[in-house]
Amino acid sequence: MTQTSKQSNYWPLVLESLRDKVSGTVFKTWFSQVNFLSIENTGRKVILEVPSNFNKKYLETKYSSYLKEAINKFYPRVVHLEFKISKIAKAKQLEPEDVFAIQDETGKRSYEMDYKKNQIEFKKETYHQKNLNNLNPKYTFDNFVANNSNRLVLSVAEAIIKKPGTLYNPVFIYSGVGLGKTHLLQAIGQKYLEQRPDFKIKYTTCETFFNSFISSVKQKNSKDFKDYFRNVDILLIDDIQFISGKEGTQEAFFHTFNELHQQNKQIVITSDKPPKSFVNVTERLLSRFEWGVVVDISKPDLEDRLMVLKDKVERMRLDLDDSQIYKIAEMVNTNFRDLEGVLNRIEARVKLIPDKPLEDFELNKILSSYSDLSSTIEVKLSNQILTADKVLKAVCQVCGTAKEDIFSRSREKSIANSRQILMYLLKEELEMSYPSIGKFFKRDHSTALHGHKSILKKMDTDLKLKQKINIIRQGLLD
Ligand code: ADP
Ligand code: MG
Repeated sequence: MTQTSKQSNYWPLVLESLRDKVSGTVFKTWFSQVNFLSIENTGRKVILEVPSNFNKKYLETKYSSYLKEAINKFYPRVVHLEFKISKIAKAKQLEPEDVFAIQDETGKRSYEMDYKKNQIEFKKETYHQKNLNNLNPKYTFDNFVANNSNRLVLSVAEAIIKKPGTLYNPVFIYSGVGLGKTHLLQAIGQKYLEQRPDFKIKYTTCETFFNSFISSVKQKNSKDFKDYFRNVDILLIDDIQFISGKEGTQEAFFHTFNELHQQNKQIVITSDKPPKSFVNVTERLLSRFEWGVVVDISKPDLEDRLMVLKDKVERMRLDLDDSQIYKIAEMVNTNFRDLEGVLNRIEARVKLIPDKPLEDFELNKILSSYSDLSSTIEVKLSNQILTADKVLKAVCQVCGTAKEDIFSRSREKSIANSRQILMYLLKEELEMSYPSIGKFFKRDHSTALHGHKSILKKMDTDLKLKQKINIIRQGLLD
């Protein structure tokens, strides 16, 4: 699905956020001439126009992670960047800057984090020590909101912080995207850093581990590779699913794991799926993933999303009223990264016109433009327009209730029952939010919530009601 040009509204903001991250010259040379063309693949791919092949290569290899981070602020679903070369513009040619150098604490050996290749190069020269643990201070426990979806994993994290290496080792955390695995892994690292300054802590993605392994094989310096990953007290490894099908890397990780585990060094692993669902990973490695504890972050429910949302709204000092917050939490039902995406878009609007609070129609616009983030939301919005009336008609017909009665304040049992059936179906069939169902009836959201819940409960025991609803549902299919 190709998105229309309205999504490009956020491109200037993406550029602005990049401008804060890189030097003025870098920005001017590499980013100022990049144009936004479109978003495709239901928000997963962004197409950008660049002045030359050289510019394209340079952005791809050197700045793609910066670019992606800035894009993800406003388009959180984007995973692929595609560059198209513009025929008109021409770029200045610049020499690539040096790779980022890092050195271990002993000063004996040093390594380079090569962002270009996303790998660690092993160099013998001495560099100034920099960012050895790869921890990002942005992710802490302080800004990680506890809720039902992550309560279990948080208690495990707390336990291993108190007692590293012996209680649960490894800790294997899995969840769908955008639910806080990386944040939590980083926060664990920060906490150790704070509480155990004597510890050597290392955060790495599986991809970096893989690239570094390949580079060590090519350069025939596997000793340096081993030293780098085995000389730690805490190993935090993100997105282990990437190891599937990579035999050499699995072998290397297996030995790293064993050595650290034997010495009671804490290992924390994250993944997008549980060990059971892995394919093309050796049995012996999989069984090790399960040696300690396997915990998941579950899909957040409305209450969880509200908790995270409220915290973020407060931190960002956004002036939203409760019904707006509720609406966002209801509509954006995917993950926390998507919630942040909506808030960033709201923040952009608020910065533009600071002294005017966000109006409901503006919020609706932001939520509907958000369809590039979640195709389900788009479906929901169009369904709502198409069939809320259809559901109403079907309910009236099957229940034998007049339309005026459904919208009246009458408390007569059969009328009240039809009204609640309608609320239930608007929720179930159209996935309408409680506030909008409330609006449909000129009531508030709690009435809609009560109506929905009460039918849900009655259906457990009331067979007739269940049948009635099934008949209405059938009618909706026609
Ligand atoms: P994952 O690694 O599971 O894909 P991330 O850790 O990257 O997810 O989280 C996505 C975004 O959502 C991050 O910006 C993160 O800070 C935020 N986030 C996730 N979980 C929480 C939470 N419990 N509280 C606050 N922010 C969260
Ligand atoms: Mg992650």
